Amino acid sequence: MAFDMHTHSDFSDGTTTPAEVISAAARAGLAGVAMTDHDTTAGWEPAEEAAAEHQIALIRGMELSTVSADGIPVHVLSYLHDPTNLALLQELAKSRNARYKRAKRMAELLSEDFPISWELVKQHTTAESTIGRPHLADALVHVGAVPNRSAAFDTILRGGSKYYVPHYAPDPVLGVELIRAAGGVPIFAHPKAKVRGRIVDERLFYDMLDAGLAGVEVYHRDNSGSGKAWLLDFAKKHDLLVTGSSDYHGAGKPNRLGENTTPRATVEAIEAGATSGYGVLWNGN
Ligand code: AMP
Ligand code: FE
Ligand code: FE
Ligand code: ZN
Repeated sequence: MAFDMHTHSDFSDGTTTPAEVISAAARAGLAGVAMTDHDTTAGWEPAEEAAAEHQIALIRGMELSTVSADGIPVHVLSYLHDPTNLALLQELAKSRNARYKRAKRMAELLSEDFPISWELVKQHTTAESTIGRPHLADALVHVGAVPNRSAAFDTILRGGSKYYVPHYAPDPVLGVELIRAAGGVPIFAHPKAKVRGRIVDERLFYDMLDAGLAGVEVYHRDNSGSGKAWLLDFAKKHDLLVTGSSDYHGAGKPNRLGENTTPRATVEAIEAGATSGYGVLWNGN
């Protein structure tokens, strides 16, 4: 009874549709899967249909982009929040607009050295995509500047590169508060992902805890070994939920569905923590 609690579709920066993510999860033998696109819940509806068809449990979620006071990107997984909550929607609109402007600016900077244009970048998104560096990476792959997304992230698009532009996102503490206010269950995504750059200091964990953090994503390929040990200890001390997931992005990342999973009891605890009226769609699992 394994559940993969973190996946992306082409509604954000995955490369496959929600229905394709769901059918691939069913083929991988998972009992359930969470759809957690960046800053959007637009993929919930197609995911719901596919999950019913494939008789796999669906946990409706989202990965909220936030940024710490010292400028470090912090991702907070939100499970089972009310997607019509106004305060959350307003904040999402703000960061999605900021992301759009930032992507345009990065495309402009890239176009000085590579044969790419804003038009080409947009061809690598759908109308609803939460636009980000993955789409810029796809344009760079398209023109042969790099072999794949990961190579682009390691070089041209890395934080600190001359083409990198930051964008507005809410503070992580506000993120946790907004998720709770929308009835959702906030879980800190890949908190010890050293491979992605700087990681936040311990004080932020305590601030997020005070704001209502429900758990930490421990079993994720980007967390360091010592980071996982620290997280397990922290979770135990503060009675937090512990999750595991693949962070599947289709062909955009090497991550395989079900490479890390979460037990059913934890999924039940997440459902019990939601106050939005939205539950897990168990579909007989
Ligand atoms: P951004 O939020 O626009 O700064 O871009 C960072 C996002 O890129 C993260 O959410 C990652 O999940 C995503 N991403 C997608 N594919 C890759 C990859 N191959 N390597 C690193 N990050 C990736
Ligand atoms: Fe992503
Ligand atoms: Fe993330
Ligand atoms: Zn993710």
